[in-house]
Parts: sequence; C-alpha cells; structure tokens
Amino acid sequence: MKTLDEVVAVIADARDIGLVSHINPDGDSIGSLLGLAITLNDAGKRVFASLPLPEHYPPQYRFLPGRDLLNTPQEIPGGLEVFMALDCSNLDRLGELCETAEAAETLINIDHHEDNQLFGSINLVDDGASSTAELIHRLLKRAGWSITPDVATCLYTGLVTDTGRFQHRNTAPRTFMTASELAGEGADIHRVVMEIYHNQSLSYTRLIGVALQRTEVVEDCGLVYSYITMEDLKRTGAILPETEDLIDFLRGIKGTSVVALFKEMKEGKTRVSLRSRDGNEVGPIARSMGGGGHAMAAGYTSERDIKESIRDLVDILQGEWSGD
Ligand code: 5GP
Ligand code: MN
Repeated sequence: MKTLDEVVAVIADARDIGLVSHINPDGDSIGSLLGLAITLNDAGKRVFASLPLPEHYPPQYRFLPGRDLLNTPQEIPGGLEVFMALDCSNLDRLGELCETAEAAETLINIDHHEDNQLFGSINLVDDGASSTAELIHRLLKRAGWSITPDVATCLYTGLVTDTGRFQHRNTAPRTFMTASELAGEGADIHRVVMEIYHNQSLSYTRLIGVALQRTEVVEDCGLVYSYITMEDLKRTGAILPETEDLIDFLRGIKGTSVVALFKEMKEGKTRVSLRSRDGNEVGPIARSMGGGGHAMAAGYTSERDIKESIRDLVDILQGEWSGD
C-alpha cells in the first residue's frame, strides 16, 4: 500500500507525465495506457503517452477511447519529471522509448509480470494481479480520481484479454471484483467482446485456417504447435498484429502440455509464443531463450528460422521431460 501512496503522491505533484507500454502491444498494455492517459489528461496533467512502434497497433483495439492522446515515440521529450512504464517486465520492452524513460527524473514501473526487473525508481509490481489494468484500477481508486465510462472500458479490455476472458489461472476473486466495479463504472462490456473477439477480418479468419491445418503434436514432449510465415500473411492479406489470439486456437488439444506458435519475422528471425496447458511453467523456457513473460504465458524471439526454432524448442522440452 505504501508504494501505491507513493505513486499517487508523485503523480499529484507532477505537471508533465510520460506514459509508455510494451512493444508488440496487447489488450492489457493498450487498455492500461489509454485508461491512465485519459484519467491524467482529465486531471489537468500534460500527458505524453506513446507506444514503441505505433504502426504495430492491433486493429481490434482501434475502438478504444483515448487514442487521440497518443503521441509518436519521437514526440516524447526526454528528461520528463515523471515517466510511467506499464506492463513492461524489463526496459528492453520499451523499445525505442527505453532511453527516454531512463532519462526521466522519476521512473514509475507498474506491472504484474513475475519476472519484472524492478527497473523503476518506484516499482508498483504485483504478480498476483491478473493484469496491469487491475493495478491501474487500484491506483485510480486510491488517488480518488473518478473512473469515467471511457476509462472503465479501457481497463476492462485489459482484464478480459490478459485473463483470456476470465478463464486463465491468473483469474482470481479480486479479478471478478474489479470487473464488477468496472461494469458499475460504465465499461461497455458487450462492445469490448464484440470488437475484440467477434470482429475479425476475413483475411485473418483464413490465416487461422492455414495455421490450424498445420497443427502438429510431438507426443513424447507433450508439445502442440503450429506456425505462420510471411508468405501466409501476404497470401491471406492478414497482418501480424491481428494474430494475438491465434495461439488460443491451439490450446484445446487434448493430451498436450505446452502450446507453441511460431511466427516468421524479418531477417530470418522467429517470434515464439508459449502457453501452458497443464500448469507446467513455460516462463522459464522463454527466459532461457532470452525472452520472458508469465508462468503460463510467455514468449521470446529466436534468431533462427521457423524450422530451427521448432527443433530448438523440442530439444529443450525433451531435455526437461527426461530430467536433463
Ligand atoms: P505473447 O506470446 O502473447 O507475445 O506473450 C505472452 C506474454 O509473454 C506476455 O505477457 C508478454 O508480455 C510476454 N513476452 C512475450 N515476449 C516477450 C519477450 O520477448 N520478453 C519478455 N520479457 N516478455 C515477453
Ligand atoms: Mn499484462
């Protein structure tokens, strides 16, 4: 609670506040960023909010209020009094805004990743929170700022997406209590679900089909995986930021333990997303590959192509399973 009060006090004293969340933004990072940006702006602060690589903004979050408050990374001045990093477990996650964040007088780190590096001068980090949005809600209540329907919609989006619609293991009694409060504060709960889960492009729908068709199971290590290539994107017309929930389509395959989705990137690299089906942690695997995330949902970027990356992961899992 002390940290919460400290954050409230620092914000109350500041006039100019920088805000950023992580690269490859998701519903929680965007919802938290926009919800806080709207609130601080309404409170009369000068807000400098941005996402690294804004061109990667996923289309399913375009409906969220507060996007007009976003700046380009280049528009964020260095040496701000206060800078807040949301949903970022380490400074690398800030991409091109890393140096700007470090140059601030006070850097506030608000996050719920268990592998958070506590890089801030103040660290409001709680890995028991379902989402960063849940922590922002706690902060706004503590500060006594009114939570408008727009802010509630943004924060509710963070809760829904990071908990997989209140189904993942990070869903706790407090998550439902927060959701209930946000609904009471006017979150447009029907719209959130319609925009995010029932509004996909025909191109992405076809890409899901391509990925599902390719699903493979490696039985001796309990792995289920699929992959998408840049050629798949070109052929279907889908774009990478649309594919955030694609891995969820692989989660229902019985008898498996680890779910992986490989996405081909430029320069022969591969983005790898991991999910646990049975409670065995995938966070340590992602960290051993230079990435990070949660125990049950994590990711990393491999310097190798899809085929090699699949082989690397199978090797790791076979090693773990045989106790090496
Ligand atoms: P996703 O598979 O959806 O990209 O990521 C799952 C989770 O792992 C998210 O919480 C995300 O923030 C985290 N994550 C994904 N990739 C990385 C990475 O390269 N580094 C770190 N530190 N976390 C990651
Ligand atoms: Mn999150």
